[in-house]
Amino acid sequence: MQELIYHSTRDTSLTATASEAILRGIAPDGGLYVPSRIPALKKSFDELSMMSYPEVAYEVLRLFLTDFTDDEVRTAVNSAYNSDNFDREDITCLMKANGTYYLELFHGRTIAFKDMALSILPHLMSISAKKNNLKEKIVILTATSGDTGKAALEGFANVPGTGIVVFYPKDGVSSFQERQMVTQEGDNTHVIGIHGNFDDAQREVKKIFTDDAFAAKMKEAGYVFSSANSINIGRLIPQIAYYVYAYTRLMEDEITFVVPTGNFGNILAAYYACRMGVPVSKLICASNDNKVLFDFFETGVYDRNRDFILTSSPSMDILISSNLERLIFELAGDETGELMKSLASTGRYEVKNFKAGDTDTNPANLFRGEFATGEEMAEEIRHVYKDCGYVLDPHTAVASASYRKYLADTRDLTPTVIASTASPYKFSASVLKAIEGDAFKPGTDKELIERLNKLSGVEIPAAVERALNGTVRHNTVCDPDKMKDEIAKIFLG
Ligand SMILES: *Cc1c(COP(=O)(O)O)cnc(C)c1O
Repeated sequence: MQELIYHSTRDTSLTATASEAILRGIAPDGGLYVPSRIPALKKSFDELSMMSYPEVAYEVLRLFLTDFTDDEVRTAVNSAYNSDNFDREDITCLMKANGTYYLELFHGRTIAFKDMALSILPHLMSISAKKNNLKEKIVILTATSGDTGKAALEGFANVPGTGIVVFYPKDGVSSFQERQMVTQEGDNTHVIGIHGNFDDAQREVKKIFTDDAFAAKMKEAGYVFSSANSINIGRLIPQIAYYVYAYTRLMEDEITFVVPTGNFGNILAAYYACRMGVPVSKLICASNDNKVLFDFFETGVYDRNRDFILTSSPSMDILISSNLERLIFELAGDETGELMKSLASTGRYEVKNFKAGDTDTNPANLFRGEFATGEEMAEEIRHVYKDCGYVLDPHTAVASASYRKYLADTRDLTPTVIASTASPYKFSASVLKAIEGDAFKPGTDKELIERLNKLSGVEIPAAVERALNGTVRHNTVCDPDKMKDEIAKIFLG
């Protein structure tokens, strides 16, 4: 069979091994690395269903990391998925509430699903650096809508041979998310707020990645850039594992996944799991009021020309979903580069024959867009809590409310798993507001967390204590067009 390699979505002649793709983060032409084919699972579902999470992750990762030895994959997996990094022995679990399964992906060090990938990415990167005889230090540049930043900081803090700079929208994250980031320890960590939103941060970071002159200066000083955002294929591959894992805990004929979506990384991992052989009925892409993806799945037109809305599910406040480019490549092939150019210049593109090609082989058919407003999200938190005492975070609630709309519309009773992407403790104010309604009284992060603890009975995770008691170590804020200068200040003096 043809060897699995990686190539850019915009030019298939720009190839890379798995380790090179992980080190670079993004292809030299600004495209994203995609695997040349999606490997089929080698182990049967019966075998996989007997395995622990790290064992399933190993079986998935080794098929994609084709220039890693089995020992290297095993070492990375075991260094990431253990009880130092996760507060559950089983790493992730399915909770049944209201007839639906919630896949709790928030038991890592920063209590958001980003830990599932960012606990392993630093290990994959160190192995890749060795494999490629990299002499330079790796500088991780990360734009965050709230959760990636902290998870990347925790993952890379004090990892030898690396430094990390995180940019977050100063007024676009929850106060607890900000506190988690600005209290980050580690001599190699840098956290910078920007006067702008996530799209501004992501756009500037991508620009810096493809700035050859700046890269040359950094290289002279002994540094190369890489990315911990889901544009890095090393972020995406580990996420495939939990969809395989979830399926093998249920072993139904078919299963639907509902994913609260922002940058389209998490749901793309579900799509790759499906292509590996997991019997997926539908992939429901849930958006909040920034419903650019819902509109895209309805019409085939991607149009970011609209107001950016700050919602209570900030990690989904995104108008340019980077990873959609990887799906577009499957739909539009060689035209992808042109479409992305159009997105950069006009903020819009159209995938031709998006609906017309309605055949079983059209990957777009697997997907269904749904969305939930802030009101619908809050109502979902309230009634799931009332019905069964289970507390959802706002992102998971957007997915859960979207699924409810889908059910009302289709009466499709396929067993369904909702990706539960954050602990409610990360968004205590929004969650309490939803449950208490008019009776809600504001308070400090600490007070709100204690109130939520009383109400939910769920133990307060260690990550919460760490953030509440940490000292503020980072306080730089800049405009988006000064991000490059800030990086230069840190590394070029
Ligand atoms: C990042 C994030 C999302 C969105 O995931 P994407 O992979 O960017 O689509 C949803 N919920 C939470 C809590 C997140 O942190």
